[in-house]
Amino acid sequence: MENKDDTSVKKMAELLRRGATMLADACPQCGSPLFKVGDDIYCVRCDRRVVYAESDEEVETQAVRTLIPELRTTLIDKLKALNELVESESDIEALTKLANLMVLLLQSLHGLENMKG
Ligand SMILES: [Zn+2]
Repeated sequence: MENKDDTSVKKMAELLRRGATMLADACPQCGSPLFKVGDDIYCVRCDRRVVYAESDEEVETQAVRTLIPELRTTLIDKLKALNELVESESDIEALTKLANLMVLLLQSLHGLENMKG
């Protein structure tokens, strides 16, 4: 109640004095301003650390990163299989298609390498 708000204001002042910084973000739980204390984000009113959920974008990037080694293996396997097909193929039209596919696979592979960093 009012008491609790009093306490939070005091705690906020205390945190600021200790060098914490007030963030523009509000606590998802109670809407109070969040404070950055060292490496932690802290909500005074809830009296707990607030862990930011990773943004969708970060989660996606992470998911793609873990997929990269698998994708690379798949692409390399396909290239090997394609190589055998090309070796035994003598029809020009079929060869053209296979060559196009090979270029696409190589481009994908190259794209994956660029995503690593
Ligand atoms: Zn809160």
